[in-house]
Amino acid sequence: MKLYEYQAKEIFAKYGINIQKGELAKTPQEAKQVAAVIGGPVVLKSQVLVGGRGKAGGVKIVDDLSDVEKAAEKILETEIKGYKPNGILVLEKIEIKQELYLSIVFDRKMKKTVIIFSSFGGMDIEEVSKKHPQKIAKIYIEELLGLQDFHINRLLPLLNNDREILSKLKEIVKKLYSIYKKYDCLIVEINPLTLTENGELVALDGKMEIDNNAQYRQKSLVDTSNGIEEDPIELIGKQAGFVVIKLKGNISIISNGAGLALSTLDLLDKYNMGVANILDLSGGATPEKVIRAIKVVTQDKDVKGILFNIFGGITRCDEIARGIAGALNSIPEDISVVCRLQGTNRDEGINILKDVNLDADTDLEETVKNIVSTVNRG
Ligand code: GDP
Ligand code: MN
Repeated sequence: MKLYEYQAKEIFAKYGINIQKGELAKTPQEAKQVAAVIGGPVVLKSQVLVGGRGKAGGVKIVDDLSDVEKAAEKILETEIKGYKPNGILVLEKIEIKQELYLSIVFDRKMKKTVIIFSSFGGMDIEEVSKKHPQKIAKIYIEELLGLQDFHINRLLPLLNNDREILSKLKEIVKKLYSIYKKYDCLIVEINPLTLTENGELVALDGKMEIDNNAQYRQKSLVDTSNGIEEDPIELIGKQAGFVVIKLKGNISIISNGAGLALSTLDLLDKYNMGVANILDLSGGATPEKVIRAIKVVTQDKDVKGILFNIFGGITRCDEIARGIAGALNSIPEDISVVCRLQGTNRDEGINILKDVNLDADTDLEETVKNIVSTVNRG
């Protein structure tokens, strides 16, 4: 569960992390009122659950208060990466001396919490790690030891050995770590954490994601949160009656069973191929249901290939194949389709697909290799 910037910042403020003065506005008129209270140049920020708002027109600095209403109207009608804004955060504009980056993330590979800090903030941390890897520090925390001063002291060189800033940063890291623990976060991020002209550190942005498995422990947040916004493709899936999981990559996996889908994902990973989304048909899929499923996943712009992995039991392979054949015309030409059919009425299914010139196999690994090489060829 992701939180909006304004929600994350409410929590930051509760823990004593500096934020700008400001408030959430739902309409251009409200934005104007908040700006009038601030009484000087403001920043208007679209409240969506994705980053990169700055580049997408979701962050506007307005120096003249008479321009606020119009700018707010524009932001409210601008979708960011497919999301409609949930409001505008109207903030007092601050003068930035330097932008820093700070996050605390659970690193699944290392099975540890990691603090990531960079003296290059304001841009995507992936970009910084490519262009200025020497400007990033990663500090892994042993769960039993917890966060200690010496961890943070390691950041001194990245701060030009400025001990005054280090001590301020130390306070913020400790507070952020408490938030991370208290709210069962997968990530808390401040990007940019800004150093102002008068030497203060201010959280200019805020991102928080709560582990969904901990929602029962975060009841108050879950109840008050309008932050449970799903990915557009997951929402489209839900409306069509499917459970869709959005991931990062180019293959869509359609299968009859979540376990089957996950093992397919593992196999694709073995061949270094990422998965765009997973759709579970569950048992007893009819051709109509298959057609509906294809309609859902082809709306995901990341998809370059669809891999059907069907293990027929109650589900009949020939029914699935009829659905795929029926939907073929509606699948964009740049999306390849491969199918692995096994189990009930397998051979009928394979024949139906062969008739429409589609690749079908009984072997999963062969099918995976097939889609990987097809998609890699472009
Ligand atoms: P994001 O693009 O979604 O990450 O949105 P941010 O909240 O990080 O804002 C993007 C950028 O807008 C920041 O990196 C700053 O450069 C700029 N910005 C945001 N707020 C202010 C502000 O109060 N003053 C100044 N000078 N720039 C700001
Ligand atoms: Mn940001």
